[in-house]
Amino acid sequence: MGIEIKTVGVIGAGQMGSGIAHVCSLGGLNVRLHDLSEDRINAGLATINGNMARQLSKGAISDADRQGALDRIKPARTYDDLSTCDLVIEAATENEEVKRKIFTNLCPSLRSDAMVATNTSSISITRLAAATDRPEKFIGIHFMNPVPLMQLVELIRGIATDDPTYESAKEFIAKLGKTSTVSEDFPAFIVNRILLPMINEAIYTLYEGVGSVEAIDTAMRLGANHPMGPLQLADFIGLDTCLSIMQVLYEGLADSKYRPCPLLVKYVEAGWLGRKTKRGFYDYRGEHPVPTR
Ligand code: NAD
Repeated sequence: MGIEIKTVGVIGAGQMGSGIAHVCSLGGLNVRLHDLSEDRINAGLATINGNMARQLSKGAISDADRQGALDRIKPARTYDDLSTCDLVIEAATENEEVKRKIFTNLCPSLRSDAMVATNTSSISITRLAAATDRPEKFIGIHFMNPVPLMQLVELIRGIATDDPTYESAKEFIAKLGKTSTVSEDFPAFIVNRILLPMINEAIYTLYEGVGSVEAIDTAMRLGANHPMGPLQLADFIGLDTCLSIMQVLYEGLADSKYRPCPLLVKYVEAGWLGRKTKRGFYDYRGEHPVPTR
């Protein structure tokens, strides 16, 4: 039997961490939210507040739901503030060194029976587990963006993940009203193994001048019935995250078909990371997004 998850720690209060905190608190769980600074934690809390207000105005949740959920989220300024958690989910920047350091420093503050998870989009769960003191209680719990709207969560077992940990993670996802699938621990798992090469190919199509940003996105929306174009989706995911995932695929599978497009590298070097920096394949600073190429 695994442990019942009642209190969840979330490390990283960006797009994903704030979304995970949002669904956990609405699901009735206590949440402790941590980031590098008080400002970033507050920015995450403001995002959650705004997104819940939108759900309230659409009638998706009641005011009591919203208030109860907001009351259940507390800032965690240090790792010691996560000491009561049954599960801590890491949702920090997609960088293996950053994540390894978090796990090594975090574990001494946790209860010995606490589970640890990562929301990584691509990095090996087995390798990250090795940076903890509890590889058997470590698992990949990969939420999709935007977390409150997306139904799927991928669960990824590392080589050492034990059955109780997997069962507890599965129950936790079901309690949030989401559907889980299981993926083996291979670079980028299932969704991003398929999705990111498609996005990278769209960027090559732009780079080679086959079409403009608008032509490529319109082509895939109306020609393949995708709900949004691949370049719009790249901006939504974050171009730094897209590049990181392509690098993990390229290096992890040692196959040149995953080579990140040089134009993607250039955008990231410019700090044009998509929606979160207000500029990527589109410029979001005005009233409507304007293609940047
Ligand atoms: P983001 O850039 O929006 O947020 C990352 C947050 O992590 C930032 O607030 C940053 O301050 C914080 N952070 C960095 N180092 C930290 C540290 N040492 N301790 C605490 N906080 C730290 O990125 P995101 O889009 O939220 O992605 C986070 C994770 O979720 C990544 O692993 C990413 O691959 C994964 N993910 C992203 C998406 C997506 O569509 N963006 C989807 C699924 C999974």
